[in-house]
Amino acid sequence: MPSETATGPSPVSIRLQGVWKHYRRGGEDIQAAADISLDLWAGSLTCILGPSGGGKSTLLHLIGGMDRPSDGSIIVNGRDVTKLKSDALSAYRRSEVGFVFQSFHLLPGRTAAENAELPLAMAGMERTRRRKRALDLLARVGLGDRADHRPNQLSGGQAQRVAVARALAADPAIILADEPTGNLDSQSGRDIMDLLQRIAHEDGRTVVVVTHNEEFIPFADRVVRIRDGRVQSDERRALDGEGRASAAVGGAEPPAAPPRSVRFGTLAGMAVKAVRRRLGRATLTGLGIAIGVAATVLLMGVGNGLESGVVKGLTTFGPLTSITVSPQRVSGTSSPFAPNTVSGPTKPITPAALRSLAALPGARAAYASASFFANLQLGSVSALSELVDLPPGSLSGVAGIRPTLMYGAWPKPGEILLSSASAKGLLGGAKPNVKRLVGKQISVGLQGMSGGVLGGGTGFATPSHPIPVRRLRVSGIVSGSQLDYLPYTTSLQWVQKINGPGSVHYPAATVIAQNISDVSGLAKRIGREGYGTATVEQILSSITKGFAAVEAGLGVIGGIALVVAGLMISVIMSMSVLERRREIGILRAVGARRRDIARLFLTEVAVIGLAGGVVGLGIGWGAGAVINALVRRSSGAAQGIFHLPSWLVVLALSFGIAVSLLAGWIPAARAARLNPVDALHTE
Ligand code: ADP
Ligand code: MG
Repeated sequence: MPSETATGPSPVSIRLQGVWKHYRRGGEDIQAAADISLDLWAGSLTCILGPSGGGKSTLLHLIGGMDRPSDGSIIVNGRDVTKLKSDALSAYRRSEVGFVFQSFHLLPGRTAAENAELPLAMAGMERTRRRKRALDLLARVGLGDRADHRPNQLSGGQAQRVAVARALAADPAIILADEPTGNLDSQSGRDIMDLLQRIAHEDGRTVVVVTHNEEFIPFADRVVRIRDGRVQSDERRALDGEGRASAAVGGAEPPAAPPRSVRFGTLAGMAVKAVRRRLGRATLTGLGIAIGVAATVLLMGVGNGLESGVVKGLTTFGPLTSITVSPQRVSGTSSPFAPNTVSGPTKPITPAALRSLAALPGARAAYASASFFANLQLGSVSALSELVDLPPGSLSGVAGIRPTLMYGAWPKPGEILLSSASAKGLLGGAKPNVKRLVGKQISVGLQGMSGGVLGGGTGFATPSHPIPVRRLRVSGIVSGSQLDYLPYTTSLQWVQKINGPGSVHYPAATVIAQNISDVSGLAKRIGREGYGTATVEQILSSITKGFAAVEAGLGVIGGIALVVAGLMISVIMSMSVLERRREIGILRAVGARRRDIARLFLTEVAVIGLAGGVVGLGIGWGAGAVINALVRRSSGAAQGIFHLPSWLVVLALSFGIAVSLLAGWIPAARAARLNPVDALHTE
């Protein structure tokens, strides 16, 4: 549909028909555009002149898809852009329109090349291709040597030329410039007008320039005057000697790839840059996350370490199929932390009782168990020991019934099996070689006897008459236990000795069930006979439950710290969105979709969250290591109380990221909802 121009026919590229734009300001209706109908042509520069507030910017924003008219249609290449949905409108801005603003609107932290390539980054073009095109365009606008300069290192005229290069990046058919010379001296202004004129004439683009400076009229093919939202006059000018270009696009290789969404790498790069620009604030935010994660890691790590330590210690009392039988009935065993109280009748454990226990249904064997308190001595060094009997040799095949042998062999009569803790105590020094002790003779002075921790922990019996110190040979060293071990037969002899002459009463017995499923029934049955019982399984499950509660409680405290951190992020991000409205407006103007903006902010908080999470993990782990070192030094325990399982590492990091994403959600959504024009107008 060709129209006549002063210099010959040129295709209509934009057709406005009955376009209205109303604004409401305090109950007053403002007509920023009132029934504007206008055809704009490709390959020509149209100047829009008029007084301030006349509606020039409004008209440009409507043409550029930055805002929607209240009524009317704007047909661009046969398509009514007023009907486009948000994403399609973004795509229109991205690929068909290039904006140039009075105040340049360059992103301050980025180089000229990075600014120029912004529309291509929003279109998902990969880095090397878009960088090449940006450099070509900078060369075209005469800034080939300024590609690495930041906006504050450029003069106004240079900055505006970067903005023109950016407007050209996606090779749009339409260039819209809103008072591009308003902030420039008159020479730079003329240079920019000349550049825009060439862009119209050489490239065949539709260029619309708003100005209120009559000085620039000579650059225009056509002058449209606007006042109170209405077209006042429309003047076509003949330009001397200017050729009309074919629709060929000069300057640089046009981007051929169809637009896709912003690449993740681009988003991540922008996010990292944004975080770096406001490093102080990001550090504060990340610190909140770090503290929350550190608290969670430390507290849950301690809970986990305590539990695994206690469980490990507990399994040294015997396999899950073992039932410890004591002569006393014990009550109040529901809590593993409360001291056991002894009540009810005492039913002695005699050799005959052992035989009848072994004969119970579900029982595999029963044997006497005793726990001796002894003083070990090697040379001048002595150590306290809790000595227990190993099960009879016939039961050595039951899994978990014996401790783990580290060095040496199982003890024969006249021998003793030492824990590595006792061996270390006897050898002294920082890291003694405990293996050295195997085969050595040590002195063992017996002090007393009890049924052991599970055997009620009471009924401590001192020998009825003094028992001479014995010399025993160390047969080997066990790991993972604080107890030392005697052969079963030796233990029986010692019990006899302590009891004195007459009938033997064992301090406790161990009944091994056939299967784990027999344990609770068998224990009940033994209880009905009048004995006290304790099973590893039962204590294990109550301890596990207890620690699950402790861990959950500690986790909640860490969680509260994280929630507080999340609120902090939310507040800081909201401030950041307010502060960065202009940046958001620029990104939207060059074609970023709403979800690109949301993603940008979410990527930013995720970066902060991840960094905070890693730091928090480090702090928590470091504090845990310090606690472990202190505990080891003060108690001599081999195992620390802090333990960091890999699931906790994963949990802590995902918590850090999840909390920051959740917290960043609302600010990010708010940023995405911003109207591009409103966002740009924030100063
Ligand atoms: P110009 O660019 O010619 O100076 P504008 O297009 O910016 O004029 O503004 C035209 C009229 O619309 C003015 O009265 C202005 O105050 C009003 N206006 C522009 N944008 C808004 C807005 N977002 N909200 C309310 N009024 C607006
Ligand atoms: Mg204006």
